[in-house]
Amino acid sequence: MIESLIGTFANYAQFEKARVALEGLSLSYRIVAPEPGFGRVGVPSLVLEEDTQRALYAHGADAFTCAGWVTYHPATIRVPEQEPPSFPDDRFGQTAIMVLAPCVADPARIRLIAHLSGDLTEVFPYLNTEMHAACFNRNGPTFTFMDGHRMISLYPRRIAIAKADEIVDAWRTLEAIRCRVNDTWARRAQITPSYEMREKPPALEIFKRLPRTNCRACGELTCLAFAVKLWSGGGQLSQCRPVFAGDFTHLRPALLEICRGLGVMDGTDADKKAIIQE
Ligand code: SF4
Repeated sequence: MIESLIGTFANYAQFEKARVALEGLSLSYRIVAPEPGFGRVGVPSLVLEEDTQRALYAHGADAFTCAGWVTYHPATIRVPEQEPPSFPDDRFGQTAIMVLAPCVADPARIRLIAHLSGDLTEVFPYLNTEMHAACFNRNGPTFTFMDGHRMISLYPRRIAIAKADEIVDAWRTLEAIRCRVNDTWARRAQITPSYEMREKPPALEIFKRLPRTNCRACGELTCLAFAVKLWSGGGQLSQCRPVFAGDFTHLRPALLEICRGLGVMDGTDADKKAIIQE
């Protein structure tokens, strides 16, 4: 069966170059547009059949840069008809979706990384006061929370979303974050900032993806202890040798994805090598 794919772009210019390449090759496509309601966080995306995408890359791939292609699933939500709100003191800025890929742990869903022209660093402590189920890691800094089944990690100039349903759902999520960030910043005079680090939920997310054999090869007595150590910035992911060189290498993609999403990769040579090898 021929599958339909959807690809998105960092900016409108790249989308337009891809569209012109398709037109030039007389290839058929459809557009999923974020405007008006999600027009501040997304750019139009292209839906192609697999063989059309192959033909496009065979003849026109030099013309544009795509953030990635995933299996197309029709959206279950509508793009709002009204224009999105603007904020006088905008900390979020413009988004550019740089990576679009299937989720490692749930291939029916998508993950993406969006870069921001703004900087969220100063907003994190105010978000931390108001979002009690979120986890603020001030050493990153990162700010992680769940939106239903979606896992969201905010970095100063970047957002990672895992397990979004499809691209419109991802735009909705980005727009909700944009509004929350800017609304919280606008009210900051009435909010006492919090630097508290709530550790447990992210450590458990890491723990769920470890072998859970308590073999102690990492130097910790249990896998849970190792997960807590990683989350608090005291360990290296590659110290779990069963995952990197032993009988549990099948767990590595999901473990890397969760650690990347939580911002706990510590940047050691071993960890960088592990990322590059994925
Ligand atoms: S090396 Fe890995 S499997 Fe063994 S205890 Fe540590 S975290 Fe668990």
